[in-house]
Formats: sequence, structure tokens, C-alpha cells
Amino acid sequence: MALMITDACISDRCDVCEPECPNIAIYAPGRPYELFGDDYEPLSTEKYYIVPGKCTECVGFHEEPQCAAVCPVDCCVPDPNYPETKDELYAKKDMLERDKVIVQRIEEIKERKRNQTQ
Ligand code: SF4
Ligand code: SF4
Repeated sequence: MALMITDACISDRCDVCEPECPNIAIYAPGRPYELFGDDYEPLSTEKYYIVPGKCTECVGFHEEPQCAAVCPVDCCVPDPNYPETKDELYAKKDMLERDKVIVQRIEEIKERKRNQTQ
């Protein structure tokens, strides 16, 4: 089950969850999110948000969801809209690992093109 961030998030004074996420699933308010090399509209402009398709409850990385572990106001909670089995979470983790490889390749191609035009 993906986690979600509730309205209790104190995003104007806190950002401790974002760097803890192994899947880069947490984004600052108003910031577009990335998936498979494309950017998407932010899911919230008011508070930090979690992209359900990128949250795996931290399986394969940590024993417990890291955002929930560090949040000072306990506003990272399971999202009942995304029930998932452990197997499904591991499959999502594998998909996201491929995403990281794809993004890295895209960056390498862009870098090569930049170098060719200089
Ligand atoms: S539970 Fe883990 S993977 Fe999901 S948003 Fe929190 S830190 Fe990221
Ligand atoms: S740790 Fe909690 S309060 Fe801080 S930005 Fe993340 S969700 Fe908001």
C-alpha cells in the first residue's frame, strides 16, 4: 500500500522526508514529479506529496517506511486507495529500478548531444 501525506504536513517548516525516500517518490509542493523520463503535474501545491506509483513502503531497502519514521507530525500514513501485496510492492520496486536506469541513459544521451553541439 502506498503511503500518503495528510494535510497535517508542515511543509513550510519541514522537508525531512524527501531525502529519505529510496524511490524518489516524495516531492515538494508544486514541484512536478518524474517517471520514466517524463515530468508530470504536481499532485499537490499545498504540501509535500507522495506519488503512489513510486511508493513501495520502502520494501527491499528498509524494514519500515522511512517517511513515516522521520516525519515529526506523523502525517505519512497508508493510503487506503492503493492496497498492494508484498509481491506487488517488490514488482513495483523492480519497475522503479528500471526507471532509474532509463533516466540515467536519457541524461547520458542529453549530455552527449550537448557536447556535440559545443
Ligand atoms: S514509504 Fe518509503 S518509498 Fe514510500 S514514500 Fe515513504 S520513503 Fe518513499
Ligand atoms: S516529514 Fe512530514 S511534515 Fe515534514 S515535509 Fe515530510 S510529510 Fe511534511
